[in-house]
Amino acid sequence: MTIWKYGSTRGGAAALTSAEAIVRGIAADGGLFVPEALPQVDLDFIEGLKHLPYEQRAIKVLAGFLPDYTLAELKAAVARAYGGGKFTHAAVAPCRQVGAFGVLELWHGPTSAFKDMALQLLPQLLSTALKKTGEKEEVVILVATSGDTGKAALEGFKDVAQTRIVVFYPEAGVSRIQKLQMVTQPGGNVAVVAVEGNFDDAQSGVKALFADDALASALAARGHRLSSANSINWGRLAPQIVYYFSAYADLVRTRRIKAGDAVNFAVPTGNFGNILAGYYAKRMGLPVHKLICASNRNHILTDFFQTGVYDRNRAFYKTDSPSMDILISSNLERLLYHESKNPALVRAAMEALAASGRYEIDAALLSKLQETFWADWSDDAQSAEAIRGVHATHGYVLDPHTAAAWRAAERYQAATGDERQTVVVSTASPYKFSDSVLRALGDTAEGDAFAQLAALEARSEEKAPEALTALQTAPILHTASCAKDAMERAVLDALM
Ligand SMILES: *Cc1c(COP(=O)(O)O)cnc(C)c1O
Repeated sequence: MTIWKYGSTRGGAAALTSAEAIVRGIAADGGLFVPEALPQVDLDFIEGLKHLPYEQRAIKVLAGFLPDYTLAELKAAVARAYGGGKFTHAAVAPCRQVGAFGVLELWHGPTSAFKDMALQLLPQLLSTALKKTGEKEEVVILVATSGDTGKAALEGFKDVAQTRIVVFYPEAGVSRIQKLQMVTQPGGNVAVVAVEGNFDDAQSGVKALFADDALASALAARGHRLSSANSINWGRLAPQIVYYFSAYADLVRTRRIKAGDAVNFAVPTGNFGNILAGYYAKRMGLPVHKLICASNRNHILTDFFQTGVYDRNRAFYKTDSPSMDILISSNLERLLYHESKNPALVRAAMEALAASGRYEIDAALLSKLQETFWADWSDDAQSAEAIRGVHATHGYVLDPHTAAAWRAAERYQAATGDERQTVVVSTASPYKFSDSVLRALGDTAEGDAFAQLAALEARSEEKAPEALTALQTAPILHTASCAKDAMERAVLDALM
């Protein structure tokens, strides 16, 4: 089998194996790791997934991108990530039909949001990679979180060999449920620290720690090395390719489509990781017609796909879909690389973005992107209307992120007349956003977070995730806090 090599989007780095790319995270020239060639599959491969459980679908799809991992290594990693009852749905990522659309539910994992799909597997791939590359150090993952990623990373890295994780959250910047999710986190290698400040303080603090030579040498002396679990790591992207294949296989199995029919996916988008995985699936040969990129009021990506101008010099809005409140969609860099095949162009665009907050692509490249991508956005009121309408018509409750994708899918169909099967990618359980979902349904959403879970349960066919309701009585395990200029000390204390 060919060993695909990984290079940098900006052209600088030498060819690495996938294990090396996952251990390093980011290329030396500041670019992102990309496979130099993409594995290709045929319809037999896709049909062959039809009757397999999710774990085996994952092994088959991932083997193409991680050929330096043995089959036994992949099997073990996938089993630890998706097996053992960590996902509360037997199908892991079920695709169900709601009205005209398929809905791919990516939120049956331990934190009830789609980040689990990647953050359950990345730590396993990383830990295996450390063994394969002969690394003796313990990797210390540092995370600054505004809420959801921190918890998903804690769950993923919990008790994974040769890893430690320290999560910083802003004392005043997370919801009560989010805080409880983190401070009740079990695991022998986890630490959770409240920062006296807001999310920007926590995030700049973590950035400074990564650049801190004194900390690096203090850690090296103890056999530790810093790393991050952020969404540009190839080990986070690859696991997401699997569920596009899985959804397609389910559509064939349930005879919604015939093998070979092209489908559309509508994806709630922030950092561009999820939808980019759909792009990789298409490039591998999955019959995908359009990828519909849905945004909220921070619609920098809609503007980009419509005009070719990426410009972050604009107001930033806090919305009801906070995971899409993003003005720098890091993974877009990978798309530019694959579609332009021109690392110099990518480097120039990213340098312009860093210097002036803006870059522009030419008309030829834009029209290539538009062959695959269609983009639209919804404000909070429009998403709330989608939540209300889908509940009224189908009895199904969408979360605010998924609602934006649902509406983009409807607007796409209305604008184009395209009647191909369309799958709305659902990224969070509505229970994660009970407050705004209840309001969208016309409820006053009174009472605390747990009262809201109960109120939503009364309106929904789906029970509230036990991991959320159990927080009310879970023991508090983490009480550390630090000033925003004392995070270095906090890391060293956490690793004692
Ligand atoms: C992270 C996240 C997104 C955005 O996904 P990207 O891969 O960053 O585009 C959308 N919805 C939810 C609920 C998320 O947690």
